[in-house]
Amino acid sequence: MNIIFLGPPGAGKGTQAVRVCEALKIPQISTGDILRAAIREGTETGLKAKSYMDAGQLVPDEILVDIVRDRLAQSDCANGYILDGFPRTVPQAEALEGIARIDVVLELQVEDEKIVSRLSGRRVCPACGGTYHVSLLGGRTSCEKCGGELIQRKDDAPETVQNRLKVYHEQTQPLVDYYQGKGKLKAVDGDLGLDKVYAQIMEILGAHA
Ligand code: AMP
Repeated sequence: MNIIFLGPPGAGKGTQAVRVCEALKIPQISTGDILRAAIREGTETGLKAKSYMDAGQLVPDEILVDIVRDRLAQSDCANGYILDGFPRTVPQAEALEGIARIDVVLELQVEDEKIVSRLSGRRVCPACGGTYHVSLLGGRTSCEKCGGELIQRKDDAPETVQNRLKVYHEQTQPLVDYYQGKGKLKAVDGDLGLDKVYAQIMEILGAHA
């Protein structure tokens, strides 16, 4: 099954995608992770993307479409995948039509106020991608899974979070109507707690299997 996870930054797309991908044995394709790896490795794509990402802006569509086309051509995508963070604009969704056949688009719905508190309290492990919220860390500063030192993503700073939400509403939310019009959209309440959100997602995907 070829699946898209849609929703504002901090809606839990990444966290849920990791779990669902493990259960379905398909790869999670996070364009944000791919771009952050490119920045760490100092590639040309990374150099181009960095200033946009730091400011909470979207990286130009052409760059993203090339990344996703290359990634979906790899053999591990043959039995399905979850696209996490792509498409984020209508032109990206239109380009995707020429690259892949999407079965279902899951929209994780979370209100803006919740997003601000989730993102400003988010801490991530750069080594393994683990994600935490400060309120649940009890003062811990290292990753539970691999021991890596946790950091705050630069684009999770409060000013940048507001900008990312604005960008989401202006450029990405139109995809809700886009996929609704294609009969592919399924909404999930992203504010029910990790296990309930996961259960809702698996129920929807079960119905599509
Ligand atoms: P994420 O980890 O999904 O929150 O993405 C972090 C940042 O990477 C975003 O704020 C954008 O700057 C960039 N990015 C990730 N995916 C895309 C995309 N599909 N289109 C444009 N920019 C993207």
